[in-house]
Amino acid sequence: MSFGKMKYNREKVSKQAGETMVIGIIGGGASGMAAALAAAENPEAQVLLFERQARLGRKLQATGNGRCNLTNLHAMEGGYHGNEPQFSKAALSAFDVDKTLGWFRSLGLFTVAEDSGRVYPYSDQANSVVDVLRFALEKPNIRIFTGFEVTKVKKTANGFSLENGEESYDCHKLIVACGGLAGTKLGGSMSGYKLLSKFGHRCTRLRPALVQVKTSWGGVAGLKGVRANCKAEILHDGAVFAASQGELQFTEVGLSGPVMFEISRDVCQGGGDWVCRLDFLPHVDMASLEAELIRRRQTNLNVDELLTGILHNRLGRVLTKAAGVRSTQDISGLGDEEIKAVCRTVKAFEVKLTEPLGMDSAQVTAGGVLTAGFDENTMDSKTVPGLYACGEVLDIDGDCGGYNLQWAWSSGRMAGLHAGKDSK
Ligand SMILES: Cc1cc2nc3c(=O)[nH]c(=O)nc-3n(C[C@H](O)[C@H](O)[C@H](O)COP(=O)(O)OP(=O)(O)OC[C@H]3O[C@@H](n4cnc5c(N)ncnc54)[C@H](O)[C@@H]3O)c2cc1C
Repeated sequence: MSFGKMKYNREKVSKQAGETMVIGIIGGGASGMAAALAAAENPEAQVLLFERQARLGRKLQATGNGRCNLTNLHAMEGGYHGNEPQFSKAALSAFDVDKTLGWFRSLGLFTVAEDSGRVYPYSDQANSVVDVLRFALEKPNIRIFTGFEVTKVKKTANGFSLENGEESYDCHKLIVACGGLAGTKLGGSMSGYKLLSKFGHRCTRLRPALVQVKTSWGGVAGLKGVRANCKAEILHDGAVFAASQGELQFTEVGLSGPVMFEISRDVCQGGGDWVCRLDFLPHVDMASLEAELIRRRQTNLNVDELLTGILHNRLGRVLTKAAGVRSTQDISGLGDEEIKAVCRTVKAFEVKLTEPLGMDSAQVTAGGVLTAGFDENTMDSKTVPGLYACGEVLDIDGDCGGYNLQWAWSSGRMAGLHAGKDSK
């Protein structure tokens, strides 16, 4: 069945109020779909899932470069941030990685874990994840409204009413699963923050995270598309601010790839000098590299080939040049100091960072609605009975590698289960 063509019953639910508990969910992304499935486990509950885009899970479909890194085997060990990162623990423990993988298996999804702990669908297609969720949502007690942007919500005597300017629906419980501002082209928006602020919930400053960082170094454009395994350290006014090791990717304007995403959170915020120091051979010490390059002096190759077989050719040439070695000479003519300079450049290459790219390029939003206003064991609001929030709209963001989707599944499931069961 094609979900895009499904006909939905748009009959107003207010008629049923009092007979069946109605749970409204705003946002048909990762956390909203998890919440809907959990809430609908109570056969007495009627779930209404509202998604402003034409299809459910549009962002999910683009995750992991189209492969969807749906969780990480190490997600239970930490890797979450926010004003109160410990807020995430209850949901992540209640619906941990094992339970999440079991749940996906029960929905028909085969998965595979990489050595790094990143888990992907066995099909290697994010579509598979979206599809099993959409199939599972085909339940008699779930109604899906796509192309429905909730623009207004208000508290009523029996719960809430929500509308898109043309139609309005009532529900007893309301789950806000609108996601964050990151990935604006894929649906990221301010919507969830605004809707929750109507109920008095406050939001932190929002910053892009898991994002490419721009550099003022002119050589970067020539390396566009080059990937390198390296250790990267971010220095703020000379002190190490963050460090990681993994794959770096050069882009036209800056540094990207998993290693950069890992350490991009809050980079270039609050003034000062921001520098990225790169070690392109973290597993080889300076002395061994120097010995190898000295051995290469016995060849009669041009210095452009000095790092051939060690690094990507283009990167090798750029680093040799950056070390101040003339490209017209032969390797055999290099002095000891020149060899040392090349080694230093390979092991500690510094580029100045200027700013992270914007929210449209970021994978996740750092910051969000303050978790202090919500109960970590249920995801419901401490001040507005029957109101729940889950996923990226809350002030929780995770490391690169499946952590953010794990938060979406765990928090979404917790919100859905409690909204489906609670009777307040
Ligand atoms: C390019 C990219 C790649 C990523 N890759 C990964 C990855 O591989 N692994 C990982 O763990 N994380 C990844 N992330 C992050 C991850 O996708 C998000 O953290 C996660 O999707 C958040 O889930 P959510 O349900 O909170 O929000 P979303 O999945 O963004 O869903 C929110 C939904 O709410 C809808 N909505 C918003 N406002 C309204 C409204 N007023 N009315 C109706 N509907 C509304 C939106 O259209 C959207 O569909 C990636 C993000 C991006 C942008």
